[in-house]
Amino acid sequence: MTDALRLVGGRVYDPANGLDGVVADVCVEGGRIVATVPDTARRIDVGGMVVMPGGVDIHSHVAGASVNAARRLLPEEHAADAEPAPALAPGEPRARSGSGGTVPTTFTTGYRYAGLGYTTVFDAAVAPLYARTSHAELDDTPIVDAGFYVLVGNDAYLWQLIRTGDRARAQHYVAWLLSAAGGYALKVVNPGGVEMWKRGHRGRIGLDDPLGSDSLTPRAILDTLCDAAEALRLPHATHIHCNDLGLAGNVATTLATMQALSGRRAHFTHIQFHAYAAAADGRRMSGARDLVEYINQHPEVSADVGQVMFGPATTLTADGVVEYLLYKSSGRKWVNSDIELETGCGIVPHAYRERQAVAALQWVVGLELFLLAADPWRVVLSTDHPNGGSFMAYPELMRLLMDRAYRDECLKRVNATLLQGSALADGLSREYTLNEIAIVTRAGPARLLGLKHKGQLGVGADADITVYMPNPDQSVMFATPRFVIKSGIVVVEEGQLRRAPSGRRLHVRPAHDRTIEAPLRSFFERHATVSFDNYPVGALRDDPVPTT
Ligand SMILES: [Zn+2]
Repeated sequence: MTDALRLVGGRVYDPANGLDGVVADVCVEGGRIVATVPDTARRIDVGGMVVMPGGVDIHSHVAGASVNAARRLLPEEHAADAEPAPALAPGEPRARSGSGGTVPTTFTTGYRYAGLGYTTVFDAAVAPLYARTSHAELDDTPIVDAGFYVLVGNDAYLWQLIRTGDRARAQHYVAWLLSAAGGYALKVVNPGGVEMWKRGHRGRIGLDDPLGSDSLTPRAILDTLCDAAEALRLPHATHIHCNDLGLAGNVATTLATMQALSGRRAHFTHIQFHAYAAAADGRRMSGARDLVEYINQHPEVSADVGQVMFGPATTLTADGVVEYLLYKSSGRKWVNSDIELETGCGIVPHAYRERQAVAALQWVVGLELFLLAADPWRVVLSTDHPNGGSFMAYPELMRLLMDRAYRDECLKRVNATLLQGSALADGLSREYTLNEIAIVTRAGPARLLGLKHKGQLGVGADADITVYMPNPDQSVMFATPRFVIKSGIVVVEEGQLRRAPSGRRLHVRPAHDRTIEAPLRSFFERHATVSFDNYPVGALRDDPVPTT
């Protein structure tokens, strides 16, 4: 099914190549975009339809031990959202049933992402110790090309290296860690805060607070990881979840973290959760203006928003501190797990409601970040699935960005208690164009991830393509693509999922100095329950993405 194919006469939105709604044919052969195909090639008439590269999700949670624990926490969602096996084309391997809800099962995750026109997905937080589980689950997540970021920065070995001033070795250690786990990028969550909380500390951890040693601070952790990502020429910058998630006044922490890394490439994730100012009475208010102003002026900074969408969610993070606080305030079911030597993990089911003041503020702050951002290439779309809402809410989010009248109607319904000083409440007229939607959902994330063959439709690019039927209600348009093509295979045809090939694994394998392995081995022998030899996941089916 990777035969030659010509999509005829669609309106092509391919921002990486400067095409903004240009009527053109798109040709595919051998899984890639080509300049032309023989006259005998299959033709699909997409006249009047919108053609974009396949969607690229830079930050989601879809595979691994923590996601699996979240699935077990919500059996009622499974019963309420059973997903029968899709009716694939004759001759296709048997499809699998599953369940949806805020944390769908593996097969359903792949089918539903593809059903929205997304063809690449990254899980943003995998403890290296559980990397095997994540690979196994991604093996069972069809269609999408996928990878994950490796949690580092609250781990005992890195702390030891920073404490002793051995930053050079730290670079080789994280290179080894990425290779051992089969990961794609470095992810740091609440640097210092997770490990100190595991040790019984219950206050905030500031950027320059010593972590049991004057030389070890959150700032030193961030410095070390960002420098390592640059030295190793990783395709994606260090992916940073700042300290103080969710707290009133945390925009100061986020800005201080950005300033600490000034001039260096860094990606700040789900910044909506890190963009709150503090009112005189201590309550949260929007800090989006200050944060966006900084991002607008600093081209080395990129971000995804982590938009909150009203409805059910599952909060799920290595930031066990946050989940403890959410559990205390909500009284809902709670999972907290210690991942030996490496990180923490917390999970709490949640619901965001329009009439709830904090949820309304979060929804507003996210939209402000999108609508005030000057450069959509650097402020890209996410809901931090399933934290701010399901990826299934992306079409609704795109409508909120594109349709001011609709957005203003929604705004009238929300609790306005915490909205003083809000730019959105004051009135933001911006409406995203289709070209800008193509940037924040495909071209931008692909560029930030260093995926040269994705997020664009130039000759040689991966033939990942989504075709939408225009609709005055953009949420309908984006929820129901007419065609989705993945690596040249037509997976969605006339709106129906018809094929479900395996996706590829996206990972890196940067070189490291082998002399670091002997001390690592003795560290494992002394402290870990897993042996050094059993820790690496070994060879993966797909070649690594080059790091130069
Ligand atoms: Zn996340």
